[in-house]
Amino acid sequence: MSAPNIETIVSLAKRRGFVFPASEIYGGLGSSWDYGSLGVELANNIKKSWWRWLVHERDDIEGLDSSIIQNRQVWKYSGHETTFSDPLVDCRACKGRFRLDKLQDVSCPKEQSANAGSGKECDLTEAREFNLMFRTTVGAVSAEDDESALAYLRPETAQGIFINFANVLNTSRRKLPFGIAQIGKAFRNEVTPGNFIFRTREFEQMEMEYFCRPEDAPHIHQEFIDAFQEWFYSLGISAENLKLYEQTKEELAHYAERTVDILYRFFPERDDEEKQFDELMGIANRKDFDLKAHSKKPEDREGKRINTDSNEDLSYFDEATKQRFYPYVIEPAVGVNRTLLAVLMDAYTEKTNDKNETRVIIKLKPELAPIKVAVLPLAKNKPEIVSMAKDLKRQLLPAMRTVYDDTGGIGKLYARQDEIGTPFCVTVDHESLEDNAVTVRNRDTWEQERINVSELKEHLQKRLN
Ligand code: ATP
Repeated sequence: MSAPNIETIVSLAKRRGFVFPASEIYGGLGSSWDYGSLGVELANNIKKSWWRWLVHERDDIEGLDSSIIQNRQVWKYSGHETTFSDPLVDCRACKGRFRLDKLQDVSCPKEQSANAGSGKECDLTEAREFNLMFRTTVGAVSAEDDESALAYLRPETAQGIFINFANVLNTSRRKLPFGIAQIGKAFRNEVTPGNFIFRTREFEQMEMEYFCRPEDAPHIHQEFIDAFQEWFYSLGISAENLKLYEQTKEELAHYAERTVDILYRFFPERDDEEKQFDELMGIANRKDFDLKAHSKKPEDREGKRINTDSNEDLSYFDEATKQRFYPYVIEPAVGVNRTLLAVLMDAYTEKTNDKNETRVIIKLKPELAPIKVAVLPLAKNKPEIVSMAKDLKRQLLPAMRTVYDDTGGIGKLYARQDEIGTPFCVTVDHESLEDNAVTVRNRDTWEQERINVSELKEHLQKRLN
């Protein structure tokens, strides 16, 4: 089982402290969200998993953390100033403003049962291009529209990688093929944000640019498409809720040779099976577009330099063939927030207890669970039990994130830990004081085992791994 719709996750996320609406006490701010104590742990665990899997476990990828605000020229030569826009339409009847290619994702403000643009009275304007980059000014300026101080919040992390290609190459002494990975915030002034954390104006990306010889690009591209599906499986996402989508010639970005999106079933409630899926990540073969675009040497057909502002050439010299060329780039780009949503939706299950009550269990993989173990005292008014429980918490903590909780009766505490995905609860009771053993309860099966304290850490560690 997985969550029947995103709404189920929205209410769980708010109730249990994963995600809250941002600026809520002032009425919110157009689809912005804040991550609470459990949400920030879950997001961190997703990022750690990605980083370990790509940067640490492979031998061919370097990490990077570049600035959010860069010189404006970066976005001029990357093409974002002129082409990073969405087609925008207004409705003369309902006064709504929509993204033309996503009309099916929003309903008409006047006629909730109809999609935007398909209501009885809808009257859409011609589409015009709306640039998605957030503008700001750098330094003390006299006027807000001072062009010389204009800068943007990055709409993707990728460009920070391309402009550092030579720095990383020279300091790491890498040879092709190799990659550079980065995790960080990105900002897009989306026309129609929505569907909880699926589409927001501020979000987080995990991007990797893998530089290779042009002739190797197609098979490396395919390898990453396969590898990333495996990574999502390793996070506990089931294969039936993932799907590949090959972008058509018309959909491809101007620089891309081939792009495959990995889709997740974010909208299981929709009748049309095809519309249940939407993008979780994209994996593109960007050819040599980016490195060339930021280099001072390349010329256009008329012999004019395409970049008159760069003072670096980002080509690569191949010692073996004594040739210089611009590497091709394979880019797997994942959204942290969409991954978090997919992970929560897929882990969502319901189970009926012996009193015929429905309980929610979030069956997160232990690697992702915000809390691995909760130590619970059966009687919080018995100092010996409390002290033994707190002691156990301290002993386990260095090896696994452990919390102590005595804020309710044992049934309530178990239910709460199930709902936030904690794989194991450890209960200290009166007998524990005599036999030095505790009860270990499994989140998914609700089975309980009596384990001696001397074996507890090893017992839990084995099961968590
Ligand atoms: P979409 O078509 O949904 O607008 P995109 O194709 O423009 O997405 P990319 O530029 O390929 O997205 O960005 C890579 C990843 O970053 C996406 O697959 C998604 O996971 C994430 N992402 C992009 N835009 C947003 C957003 N507004 N909110 C949350 N995540 C986003």
